Amino acid sequence: MFIILTDKVSHRLKYALEEIFVHRLKKTYILTDDISQFQDNSSNVKIQYTSIYQSDLGGYWIQNNGFLYETEIHLEFKPAFVTYTIEKNDAFTDYINFILNKFPSNQFTDAFFTTKHSAYFPCNGFMPFDIFSLVFWKLSRYEEYQNYKGDKLGRFIYSQSLDAKNGIEPIPYIDIAIIYFANLLNIDLREIWRLKHSPTVDIDIAYKFLGRNIIRTIFSTLKYPKFLKSRIKTFFTRNDPYSWNNTVAQKFKFVENLHVFWLCSEKTNTFNKQVKLDYKNLLKDIKTSNQNFSVGLHPSANTGFTEWEKEKNWLENITGQKIYSSRQHFLILNLPETYQSLISLELREDWSMGYSDNIGFRAATSFSFRWFDLKKDIPTPFLINPFCFMDVTLKNYLKFTSEQSLKSINNLYDWISICGGVFCYILHNESLSSDSEWKDWQNLFENTINRGQN
Ligand SMILES: [Zn+2]
Repeated sequence: MFIILTDKVSHRLKYALEEIFVHRLKKTYILTDDISQFQDNSSNVKIQYTSIYQSDLGGYWIQNNGFLYETEIHLEFKPAFVTYTIEKNDAFTDYINFILNKFPSNQFTDAFFTTKHSAYFPCNGFMPFDIFSLVFWKLSRYEEYQNYKGDKLGRFIYSQSLDAKNGIEPIPYIDIAIIYFANLLNIDLREIWRLKHSPTVDIDIAYKFLGRNIIRTIFSTLKYPKFLKSRIKTFFTRNDPYSWNNTVAQKFKFVENLHVFWLCSEKTNTFNKQVKLDYKNLLKDIKTSNQNFSVGLHPSANTGFTEWEKEKNWLENITGQKIYSSRQHFLILNLPETYQSLISLELREDWSMGYSDNIGFRAATSFSFRWFDLKKDIPTPFLINPFCFMDVTLKNYLKFTSEQSLKSINNLYDWISICGGVFCYILHNESLSSDSEWKDWQNLFENTINRGQN
């Protein structure tokens, strides 16, 4: 158990401590602003999180510069950047051997000790940065409440982030910082390590040709004459290249914890192109997906609460159960409005926390974390599940080949395995179809799924 002395107790500090101690390190702690309680407490490991170190009180010290005592959002604030190296000690050597035992080809186990790791909030004390402020800064997504331009859909993108400005790769550097902190506190990292595979699929368009009304079918036939042959074939065989059975069901045959997000919008426009909601094969496929996997909502883009509520009710009706998880279509996520709407819809978790323009981690962590509503200055139980890449990002935004993608995905996987985090990514039924522009990517996706299953 740990006891932490602070000059002041605040929501932001409590949130950072909960995320670090309870959810990551699986340790209990006491937070106090009472010096005598701290002084008398000799059975716990002591940490002074104060502006000045009081040597008579003993314990570790992290210099506190007051960031977590604030309650407002400063629109221009940017924390100072700092790098640090991790010193090799016996516990870390054991830990790295433990990783190498499981993943002999891990390329970053050596780099762990030679790389300059990134952090913010440099400070005095027993470590070179204020880990509590760092974790709060990244997990609260403070930056996304500040003035940022976003891309053409208004999305927060890596190239405009403070990390990009400081030349920080979007690796899970929060997870690395927490391991570093835990090692300084003599916590056995092997006990808290738990790598998890959490693949996800979005179904924006359930079928390539089927499930449209006659007008839409005629329009598409004229727009895409190159598909005429396969369109006719599909029409007669009723076997659609994007169907559940031809894509997701095949690729994830041996995977249990897949999350599938269905777009349930009856609108058809530039952003929302789902097939007819009363198409009987769609209903059948949603039910099948729900028998084997976890089904979530994919709220339509450029709409809002009223539409999302209709879509959620419809999906609950089809699956016959309450829906608790959700991912934003096109990853359009505006804080705090989007999460406030999802919470009002009684959703409990979101899976949109990642970049559309780059691979890697938007909140610098691969672990799930609870959302802190910065506008209201309160923690919430709403869970955020970050992902590390999306298929479309690799091919369309980064213009990677599948070979380049394999290298990047393996790099990320190596970091996640060192941190014992969650390997979560986004594919689409369309990208899992060999009858699509993704046909040369099928090996990559199979490799990725197999790697996650290790
Ligand atoms: Zn989508």
